[in-house]
Amino acid sequence: MTYFDSIDEIYQNTPDNPKGQWQNWSQNQKSHPGKVFQPRSTSELMAEIQDSSGALRLVGSGHSFTPLAKTDDTLISLNHMTGLLGHNEEANTARIMAGTPLHQLSELLDGIDQGMLNMGDINHQSLAGAVATGTHGTGAKLPCISGLVNSLTLITPKGKVLECSKTHNKDLFDAARVNLGALGVVTEIELQNRPSYFLKEQIDIQPLDDVLDNIDTLKAQNRHVEFFALAYSDQVILKTLNPTQETPFSPKAPFISDDALLRFFCEVTQRMPKLIPMIHRQLARFIKPSLRVDVSHKVFATPRTVRFNEMEYQVPAEDGPQCLRKILKHLKTNQVAAFFPIEYRYVAADDIWLSPFYKRDSASISIHQYFKQSYTELFQQLEPIFDEFDSRPHWGKSHTKTHKQLARLYPQWRDWKEVQQQLDPDRRLMNEAMERILGEA
Ligand SMILES: Cc1cc2nc3c(=O)[nH]c(=O)nc-3n(C[C@H](O)[C@H](O)[C@H](O)COP(=O)(O)OP(=O)(O)OC[C@H]3O[C@@H](n4cnc5c(N)ncnc54)[C@H](O)[C@@H]3O)c2cc1C
Repeated sequence: MTYFDSIDEIYQNTPDNPKGQWQNWSQNQKSHPGKVFQPRSTSELMAEIQDSSGALRLVGSGHSFTPLAKTDDTLISLNHMTGLLGHNEEANTARIMAGTPLHQLSELLDGIDQGMLNMGDINHQSLAGAVATGTHGTGAKLPCISGLVNSLTLITPKGKVLECSKTHNKDLFDAARVNLGALGVVTEIELQNRPSYFLKEQIDIQPLDDVLDNIDTLKAQNRHVEFFALAYSDQVILKTLNPTQETPFSPKAPFISDDALLRFFCEVTQRMPKLIPMIHRQLARFIKPSLRVDVSHKVFATPRTVRFNEMEYQVPAEDGPQCLRKILKHLKTNQVAAFFPIEYRYVAADDIWLSPFYKRDSASISIHQYFKQSYTELFQQLEPIFDEFDSRPHWGKSHTKTHKQLARLYPQWRDWKEVQQQLDPDRRLMNEAMERILGEA
């Protein structure tokens, strides 16, 4: 199993996944929910919330690295509440059931000639889960997925149905577009899309210094730009995506896929970390420049079959290059065994209270570690560098921030907590991890 598309898969009775154990994608979070509830309708969901007592946690597709969905009490999954509810052809908007996985959503949008304005690296998250943590792709002028939400419906732990949008219940709207599953169950989301479109992907190997020196031009000239840097290489894998009218084409599949190569090198370097610098320096031998054109969602989503753990911080956009240089210098100077590429992206500012991009154009820098290796030491070595730039952690990716530190990073923190207190006064939607990051009422 590579992805969890359905919570049912998590309950398969296999030796490495005993019945009753929930685990996330990277397998660093596990729990034994007393009950897993999978409503098929809003009325079933409301009845369950009203009849139940004790803690409730919500899970999407289990793709967060943080223990957001962990609970030994009741776990609610909307994996049976999926699909398209309606759309507006002129405005290019669509109303979607919040449990819909993004790959299913992409197909549904194809059917009404719409496409999402941006997507992240994979398409296996549920829409509600992606929105809850401020999931994003890359594009200096494009916000995270929460910034593409026009309105949403939320059911509070008291069983109340609330609607909000830019013009209705504005405070709730600003609080709920990044909600960490702590305000209620989001059941419906209206997304702003655009007419279905094709993207041309260009992958190149470029000198790191050239890319960083010209990053403003690259950002201005490409709708999407990102690159992958390696601790012991002077070169990066540069990827740009731009809308195109060209006919779809893809390069001939390589004899060994990039993912198979990555898995092989992860296995080798976890046993022989001394080989990392040599392999990094051979980057250009393994990754070849390529071009392809396809419908947008197929270009956005890439296979990620090699499991890893990840920490990601959102750095003020203008500080991104300096922060990355410091990280690379630290890794090299201290000869840290970090094989996985570091991903560097851009995300536009928004006005969502708990969005890591709140009022700040950001450079997004992600550190990965192969899932079979310990990641805490690597991540903790690099967190102080992110702190120098007042960076904000991705809510779904590993970090050690506490509510005291987070409150300083989010100007609207108190307002968000007030909304939380109003909607969940009994704190039914909290778990241990949420206490650490959100603190007391
Ligand atoms: C391989 C991989 C690639 C990734 N790529 C990217 C990327 O490119 N960009 C990026 O930004 N992130 C990325 N992520 C992180 C991922 O997008 C986020 O962690 C996202 O939140 C996961 O969505 P999910 O559906 O799996 O939600 P889960 O991880 O299951 O839950 C996330 C949060 O959503 C809440 N939630 C779930 N359902 C509801 C609901 N109905 N109502 C209210 N709250 C709810 C949960 O309580 C929890 O707080 C990646 C993760 C992995 C494993």
